[in-house]
Amino acid sequence: MPGLPSFASARPQGVERAVKGTTGGRVQRLIRPEVRRLNAYHVPDSAGMVKLDAMESPYPWPGDLMDAWLAALGSVTVNRYPDPAAVRLRSRLRAVMGVPEGSDILLGNGSDELIQLILLCLSRPGATVLAPEPSFVMYRLLALAAGMSFVGVPLRGDDFMLDPAAMLAAVKAHRPSVVFLAYPNNPTGNLFQEDVVRAILESTEGLVVMDEAYTPFADSSFLAALPAQPNLLLMRTVSKMGLAGLRLGWLAGDPAWINEFDKLRLPYNINVLSQISAEFALDHMQALMAQTRKIREDRERLYNALASLPGVTVWPSEANFLLFRLPSGRAVEIFQGLVSRGVLVKNLHASHPLLTDCLRVTVGTPEENAAFLDCLRALLR
Ligand SMILES: *Cc1c(COP(=O)(O)O)cnc(C)c1O
Repeated sequence: MPGLPSFASARPQGVERAVKGTTGGRVQRLIRPEVRRLNAYHVPDSAGMVKLDAMESPYPWPGDLMDAWLAALGSVTVNRYPDPAAVRLRSRLRAVMGVPEGSDILLGNGSDELIQLILLCLSRPGATVLAPEPSFVMYRLLALAAGMSFVGVPLRGDDFMLDPAAMLAAVKAHRPSVVFLAYPNNPTGNLFQEDVVRAILESTEGLVVMDEAYTPFADSSFLAALPAQPNLLLMRTVSKMGLAGLRLGWLAGDPAWINEFDKLRLPYNINVLSQISAEFALDHMQALMAQTRKIREDRERLYNALASLPGVTVWPSEANFLLFRLPSGRAVEIFQGLVSRGVLVKNLHASHPLLTDCLRVTVGTPEENAAFLDCLRALLR
């Protein structure tokens, strides 16, 4: 660009020396070592594949709803900032989801952001985060991001339930600021024992976050327990019920907690398109719930089909995915075989000792589930 000085020629004499050195050296010096040691959260390329790896709903909105939604989007003023408190959306959520009186709710750009926000607020020197494992990997990653210690307590190996003695002993020994319990658990699909959850709530001096991302596919929730449990927080997301693209999660709990978390929330974290789309979705919940019921039915069919395959173990699931174990030593080869046939599932082998030889498949459309099963049968032969 003629007339504009380049950065090099604009730099005053003497500054040059201060900024010398390789980028690698500066990265070493400036980036926190625990961040440099991390691998980035890897999302595989899924273009053109039968995508059964990420617990998305396979169903878009029905055609008539699609038109109404597009019309609703027409009223959005993108030149203005969104409502920072998303007042309308929050009151709609409260009503539709049945959030009890006396609990406040806070919105996040996905529940991932809410986990991060909770941890930023709890991140005092020496503070610890505790969760059973295997569970949702973000608890560990975001604890580390917030500079906190993470304690993972192994689930029982046979049924992936909480180990009551181990959990209560770990709570006593580590005095965590927060315990995260995914209910149902990801990647195992089960609901933990209610009495053990209550025992943890009673025995901990810290918070307990029930992460209910998969509640639309289950018959149990801790939402009604909120008013009686001042150290209980409840987290939900619209991602797994057909709205993963919106990025919207919500956290409910005692206003004393929510008020503190709200101070570190970025002011406009829920954008105008997400706010209006989520309000629209909440006004048409029957359509989403019909999809959810269909997925639950298809989950049972997929479970029975997997259970009938020789050498395959599948665990019952209260979520929209199934965890299954393949004959010893074959998970990686079969995962790759599925990929080369155009079917993407999640390979969990080597992610945790309890998940050796395991893959996880999201329940898709009947056609997608059949395509997956056909490929799997061929690979097992
Ligand atoms: C998918 C998932 C989330 C993340 O939800 P987003 O709202 O999409 O960020 C949180 N917790 C668990 C257990 C999940 O499986």
